[in-house]
Amino acid sequence: MSYIKDVDLEVYNAISEEEKRQEEGIELIASENFVSKAVMEAAGSVFTNKYAEGYPGKRYYGGCVNADVVESLAIERLKKIFGAKYANVQPHSGSQANMGVYVGLLNAGDKILGMSLSAGGHLTHGYKINFSGKNYIGLEYGLNPETELIDYEAVREIALREKPKMIVAGASAYSRIIDFKKFREIADEIGAYLMVDMAHIAGLVAAGLHPNPLEYADVVTSTTHKTLRGPRGGVILTNNEEIAKKIDKTIFPGIQGGPLVHIIAAKAVAFKEALSLEYKKYQEQVAKNAKVLSEELVKGGLRIVSGGTDNHLMLVDLRPMGVTGKLAEAKLEEAGITCNKNAIPNDPEKPFVTSGIRLGTPAITTRGFKEDETRQVAQFILTVLGNINDSEKIAQVKEQVFKLTEKFPLYKGK
Ligand code: PLP
Repeated sequence: MSYIKDVDLEVYNAISEEEKRQEEGIELIASENFVSKAVMEAAGSVFTNKYAEGYPGKRYYGGCVNADVVESLAIERLKKIFGAKYANVQPHSGSQANMGVYVGLLNAGDKILGMSLSAGGHLTHGYKINFSGKNYIGLEYGLNPETELIDYEAVREIALREKPKMIVAGASAYSRIIDFKKFREIADEIGAYLMVDMAHIAGLVAAGLHPNPLEYADVVTSTTHKTLRGPRGGVILTNNEEIAKKIDKTIFPGIQGGPLVHIIAAKAVAFKEALSLEYKKYQEQVAKNAKVLSEELVKGGLRIVSGGTDNHLMLVDLRPMGVTGKLAEAKLEEAGITCNKNAIPNDPEKPFVTSGIRLGTPAITTRGFKEDETRQVAQFILTVLGNINDSEKIAQVKEQVFKLTEKFPLYKGK
């Protein structure tokens, strides 16, 4: 860090403040995590200097011998984690992984059937203001209004009526197990591709705590930085050789140029970590903590969408406490707790206000929180929400947050 300080004090200060924010706060954003120092080191390595267009053994630049080593390691490890025959580790992000699949397998104007954004889907699943809804015709499925679970019967009806070329399963804010087999059956009825975007749940799948989509999908995409606990980036997996060839050609030279070799090196390190026994225990704790958090919040008077969670996240309906998502997000941040406001099914509030917050446990679990600490986190949240206009109470919670996080250092002194 001293190098940055010498060259650029403004950026140095921002990084220092961010370090402090991450060390001293409680991170409950469901899509965030903390990478190991080894992953961080690889991401900050000399591979940031290297051009390596192409794939291992078939590059368009010289000097790629070491780049080949790290990319091959990343590919082999990723295949092993998920039991896949083919893997591409070059997508710069989850969105680029999804774009790689659409461009590789579809034509402009084809229909994609994905979960609606308001039900918990992602922008790249066909949303109208995203490339996926502009270049393709985005069709939406949602949740059963009573159970708040994916309405598989409705998915089937839309699929039979509209005959999309691709069905997308996967979500950003869905707390229950996704039935990939059902999606496969629906896709088979109309001869559609099934793509699963497992960005949120990849770490749980890696640890065997969620059914593996590779068993059913034609192609699977993921981010690497959420539950999976790697650097920011994307990956694509498949068991189909023809699809694998199309995907490789689409990622490079189709939609990307040189891969981020430093990030691929960091992915390789994270994938090695994901193959360890410790990692499996970590993911089990993520799921346990999520259950405890949702149960404690319910005891405190809040409602969890669909009644609970099977994975790492939950959507909290704040209406029983008369607080909006926007206000809750702001006041929790004042107390050192970070989360994001999130629409709940049939939310009466505007998308920028919302009646809910999305909470996830991957980051607190990485720093060592178990059930006891998670119960404390729930109490902090309930105190803030129950005293939303009491700045003194919120300041007291902030002190307690600081005391708790101090006992579980992230990078400091490790
Ligand atoms: N897919 C899902 C399900 C996501 O939740 C996200 C990000 O939140 C993405 C894709 C996109 O990933 P990225 O932000 O890396 O483009």
